Amino acid sequence: MEAPLYRGGLEDVARLYALLRDERGLVVYGYRLDGGSIGFGVVRGASELPLRVEAEAEPGRYRLRSGVGFTTSHQSPKNYLHPPRQVVARVREDLSVEEPEAGEGGVALFAVKPCDLSAVEVLDELFRAGANPLYAARRGRVKFVVVEECLRPGNTCFCSTTGSGPTAREGFDVAYAKLGGEAVLFKPGSPAGQKVLEEMGLEEASEGDVAEYRGLAEEASRRACLGVAVEEAQRALRRLLGDRGFWERVSERCLACSSCNMVCPTCFCTELVDEYDGRVDTRVAQWVGCLSYTYGMVAGGHFRRELYTRYRHFVLHKFLFYPMQTGRLGCVGCGRCVTWCPAGVDLRESLIRAVGEGGG
Ligand code: SF4
Ligand code: SF4
Repeated sequence: MEAPLYRGGLEDVARLYALLRDERGLVVYGYRLDGGSIGFGVVRGASELPLRVEAEAEPGRYRLRSGVGFTTSHQSPKNYLHPPRQVVARVREDLSVEEPEAGEGGVALFAVKPCDLSAVEVLDELFRAGANPLYAARRGRVKFVVVEECLRPGNTCFCSTTGSGPTAREGFDVAYAKLGGEAVLFKPGSPAGQKVLEEMGLEEASEGDVAEYRGLAEEASRRACLGVAVEEAQRALRRLLGDRGFWERVSERCLACSSCNMVCPTCFCTELVDEYDGRVDTRVAQWVGCLSYTYGMVAGGHFRRELYTRYRHFVLHKFLFYPMQTGRLGCVGCGRCVTWCPAGVDLRESLIRAVGEGGG
C-alpha cells in the first residue's frame, strides 16, 4: 500500500524546518535567500527560507520575483558536502600535524531539489568508501533529507531527460510539492519522515489534491525534457569526439570563466594550495574548474591549451566518461551551468546540435 500524502500550507514548510532544528536538534543546511539570488548554507531562521519567491532563469539570465516556484539557485548541497575551500591539514613549526574537524551534530538537508538529490548520489559515488575522509565526515552527519519537488520547472531545467526529477522517488525522508497559492502536498519517504509528518498533525490529502499533484507532475516532466534522449546524445558525442570544428562551434562564445564548474552540483575537482604564515603551513583544497585555462597546466606543459578542448572535456566527462567509470550520468539536468553562464553558452543546445550533426 502506498504511504498517504498530506496536505498543508507554506507555513507548514516553515514548521517542518523549525521542528528539525528545534526538536530534533539538527543543523539545517538548505536554500536561503541570498541577496538577489538563492544560496545554500545554514538556515538560521524561517525568514531566510525562499518560500515565496520564484526564479526566472534563461541562458545567462537569473532574476527572483515573488511567487512560490523557485527552481534553481547558484549554490547546491555540494556547498555543504564538498565546500569551495576546505582545510586539509595544518603543519606547525615543530612538524606536528593538526587534522581538520568536520563539525559537530546531525545535519538536515532542507528543501533540496530532486536533481540535487541525484547530484549528492554522484558525489557519494565519487568520494565513497571513505576515500575522501573530509567528505565522509560531512556526509555522515546528514541525518534527515527534505526534498522540494518542482511542479513548475524552470526554463533551463532538463531533469526529466537525465532521469533526476522533477519529482523524487527515493533517498529522502520527506518530500513536498507546492501545488499553487499556499497549498503544499507532503509525502513521506522513510519511516522517520512518516513520523515527522504525523507529529505535525497534517490532514491527509484528498483525492482531488492527489490528482492535481499527479497532473502537475506529469506536465512538469514534459516541460523539463530536452527533446533528445541521453542515449542519442551519447552516441552522437562518441562520433564527434575528434571533430574539432563541432567543438569550436559549440564553445565559440565561451569566456573560460569556469562559472559553469562552480555552480555545477556534480563538478568536484580541487587543487591543493599551501598557505604559510611564517609559523603554520595550512594546506587547503579549493575548487578548480576544467574550463579555466590553468586547469590543464602541468609542470611539463599544458594538455588542454585550446578552449574548445576544455569545453569538450566538460561535456564528455558528464555524458561519456563518468558513465563509463560509474555507470551513471555525471549531469543531473539542473540547468545551473546554462543559467549562470555569463555568455549564455547552453549545454542543452550543445547536446541537441550533437544529435543533429553527429546523428543519434
Ligand atoms: S561555458 Fe560559460 S560559464 Fe562555462 S567557462 Fe564558458 S563562459 Fe564561463
Ligand atoms: S552540467 Fe550543467 S546541467 Fe548538468 S549537473 Fe552540471 S550544472 Fe547541472
